[in-house]
Amino acid sequence: MTDVYKGTAYCVKCKEKQNLEGTISVSDSGRRTAKGVCPVCGTKISTFLPKA
Ligand SMILES: [Zn+2]
Repeated sequence: MTDVYKGTAYCVKCKEKQNLEGTISVSDSGRRTAKGVCPVCGTKISTFLPKA
C-alpha cells in the first residue's frame, strides 16, 4: 500500500521549496518521509512529515 503525498519539499539544487508529488514511506521508528522528484530540475527530493 502506497500513500501519495502532495505538498512542498526543499530542493537542494534549486535552493528553494518546490511542489512535490511523491510517495510516503514509513521507517521502523514510525517516521514518515515523502519522496519524490523536483518538477523543475528532476532531482530526487524528500521531506519529513509530521506524525499524523
Ligand atoms: Zn529542483
